Amino acid sequence: MIESILIANRGEIACRIINTARNMGIRTIAIASAEDRDARHGRMADQLILLDDGPASQNYLNISAIIEAAKHSRAQAIHPGYGFLSENPEFADAVRQAGIRFIGPSADTIRQMGLKDEAKRLMQAAGVPVVPGYLGDDQSTDRLAEEAEKIGYPVMIKARAGGGGKGMRLVTEAGAFIPALESAKREAQASFGDDHVLLEKYISEPRHIEVQILCDSHGNAVHLFERDCSLQRRHQKVIEEAPAPDMPEAIRATMTKAAITAARSINYENAGTVEFIVDSANGLSETGFWFMEMNTRLQVEHPVTEAITGIDIVKAQIEIAAGHSLSFTQDDITITGHAVEARLYAETAEENFRPAPGIIHKLALAETAGIRIDSGIDSGDRVSPSYDPLIAKIISTAADRLTAMTRRADTLNNSIIIGTDTNRAFLAHLAEHQCAEDAPLHTGVIADNLASLTQTRQPSDALVAMAAIACLPCPSNSFTGWRHWGAGEIPLSLSISGEPLKLSLLVGQDSYSLQLEDRQITLDSPLAKTGKTGRHISFVIDGQLHTGQAIWHADKLVVICDSTQASFETYSAMTTSRSNSHDGQITAPMSSVVKAVNITTGQQIKTGDVLVLVEAMKMEYPLTAPFDGIVEDISCETGDAVTDGQILMHISQQADDNDKTD
Ligand code: ADP
Repeated sequence: MIESILIANRGEIACRIINTARNMGIRTIAIASAEDRDARHGRMADQLILLDDGPASQNYLNISAIIEAAKHSRAQAIHPGYGFLSENPEFADAVRQAGIRFIGPSADTIRQMGLKDEAKRLMQAAGVPVVPGYLGDDQSTDRLAEEAEKIGYPVMIKARAGGGGKGMRLVTEAGAFIPALESAKREAQASFGDDHVLLEKYISEPRHIEVQILCDSHGNAVHLFERDCSLQRRHQKVIEEAPAPDMPEAIRATMTKAAITAARSINYENAGTVEFIVDSANGLSETGFWFMEMNTRLQVEHPVTEAITGIDIVKAQIEIAAGHSLSFTQDDITITGHAVEARLYAETAEENFRPAPGIIHKLALAETAGIRIDSGIDSGDRVSPSYDPLIAKIISTAADRLTAMTRRADTLNNSIIIGTDTNRAFLAHLAEHQCAEDAPLHTGVIADNLASLTQTRQPSDALVAMAAIACLPCPSNSFTGWRHWGAGEIPLSLSISGEPLKLSLLVGQDSYSLQLEDRQITLDSPLAKTGKTGRHISFVIDGQLHTGQAIWHADKLVVICDSTQASFETYSAMTTSRSNSHDGQITAPMSSVVKAVNITTGQQIKTGDVLVLVEAMKMEYPLTAPFDGIVEDISCETGDAVTDGQILMHISQQADDNDKTD
């Protein structure tokens, strides 16, 4: 068996591979660019080898450096993950020539499937249905235009070396063909150094359904059923699920058989995916699907297949690479339940999905029953602009599709991500959209509903009320005693996406209410407690109980209430970090008793960490760190009675590395 594996990748997929390898008792070696030296995958592995700084060509795409790292660490095998060198035949060759096992198919297979036109020719010859189109070598504009005419508009132009949607253009009418061809060729040349294109009939409102296969070196080939990846944006997958919804058994049988035929025709070995484009305009049919391409590697979306089959695909990959026979037969593989994966990205969905790299100060994904999170990021980590801005894959599994979708929406709504922008809300809205009865499923659904899916929703009154309460000193039991701060009406400065809310809290003798714009909302039986994960708040509005949680980071306040979520910016004079100046002195905001001191001298602290809890008149008041730093000294203890303005501790800003070396 293989005893050590170098993972030639980073991020969530490196972490995911390390997990399985570790479970198998295999030593793991990670590689990292200088930028990634503290990344989670390196922290998880048994050994980390730092490669050169700079662009990926210097590190994650540097074949000789990776092989050198494998030799140096005595790795017996290399797993390429996905992306980077995973479908590079020169890499597969070089690894094997170095006497190291490559966890993937042969270089020849990768080469054969690497060019879309060549792959389609091979499949056509093997009797696998392929999308009607033109695969010829004559690349003259006249010939291509003529072929497009023959296929009939709309047609798809695709770069034969393409991937990631690059070099791909949809042309709806003859007049638009030449400019589209020219721009597709330019993009293909720039991205792949190959401007050769093929033409395909455009299937309108298609579904993307793919079949996972596993083949060993002993001639055994099985499929792990299909995945539906039809929810896409700009031809890139956003949501993947398994099995494909409404898949008739007969079509499943025909499609999986075609996938096995495809794999066998090229003597495929290891895990692979055969992608089909499916005409769904009039329901699925046995003659209405065509081979698009084969991915000769582990796919991003493989966890949904693992979830419904119970098979660890990475484990199978490692066993196959070690020369073992598959440990199961086709009859052993069954579908149980339904699984859905959502890709959580650091991007601003509301601004055309602009990538939003940056530090994720807090990442608390609601990992409840039926939820698997694959991530390469922890709180405090940075999503680098140099790489794919994927934060996590959220995989929800349940007995049926609707429950899996609802679970996904709940997880997204109850997860806290503070730092950069993410597509969390977009994914939650998409899940809700999919839960609707008769929700269509095809590759155009996201584009068709983009405005509503990316719309910033108005938070509910309860959510705003919760945000308001979160800004105030925390009562341990109820609001009794608010007036200790002399407030009749407490103005609150909260804004959403930079838009200030007209908001204040009215404190009466026995009643409390929120003034929001020109409305007054009465909050009955309010309760608020500060816990480790923020402030837990509940109250009753019009007889209905609302419960939720509020979490701060610096000026940001994220509030979750009744499984909905909103992010606020807070400038209230009463917010915790505001009341403490940035000069490093943490002072008591009022006469109070120290309830808890959460830190020790010399401890490193992060912005927003609760340092001390003070209590006055039954109300808790958390004092948080206004910046990242170190606790210099502490001059209070639990139980101390402190006066307004009394210094409780000193903290200092953390010097950055540059300062240290100067
Ligand atoms: P890439 O390798 O660049 O990702 P693919 O060939 O895998 O490109 O296609 C990506 C997506 O583009 C598919 O999942 C599908 O949504 C769409 N697509 C590709 N070919 C066609 C076609 N002939 N008709 C309609 N949509 C297509």
